[in-house]
Amino acid sequence: MQNPIITGTQVAYYIVCQRKLWLFSKNISMEHTSELVEIGKLIHENSYQRKRKEINLEGIKIDLLEAKRGLIHEVKKSKSLEESHLWQIKYYIYYFKNIGIQIEGIIDYPKLRKRERVSLSLEDTCFIEKTLMDIDRIIRKPEAPTIINKPYCKKCSYYEFCYC
Ligand code: SF4
Repeated sequence: MQNPIITGTQVAYYIVCQRKLWLFSKNISMEHTSELVEIGKLIHENSYQRKRKEINLEGIKIDLLEAKRGLIHEVKKSKSLEESHLWQIKYYIYYFKNIGIQIEGIIDYPKLRKRERVSLSLEDTCFIEKTLMDIDRIIRKPEAPTIINKPYCKKCSYYEFCYC
């Protein structure tokens, strides 16, 4: 396990954009300027309030833990960037496995009234270990990786920083 711990957000950003990962890891934050981020936070705060048991371990912040059922939940706004959601929760499963706790994950999309069950395969473990090494390499770079020019850049909180 890395020291300091790589967070689930960093793993998700690695999947989305290495530049975003780098900016976030340098504490350059534009989150407050994005209306979409605000909407996401509202959904997050209002979903599953009765069941909520958020846990925060060394930067590993999990939306809901159902300890008896061995389940963790991540609450997401939409299925755009779905792959990043998937690897974020797989990373949490990997993290718990490494401290001796076997769990599975659920991604909740309350706005879509959908949920997806997630587990961790051997191939996933290899991918996560390679990803962690790559994240460590990227965040040590003295300069930000290049702009990626993807359609989802327009919804990114760093859009103005990258393109204006
Ligand atoms: S705007 Fe695009 S290039 Fe810039 S950080 Fe976001 S995803 Fe990456």
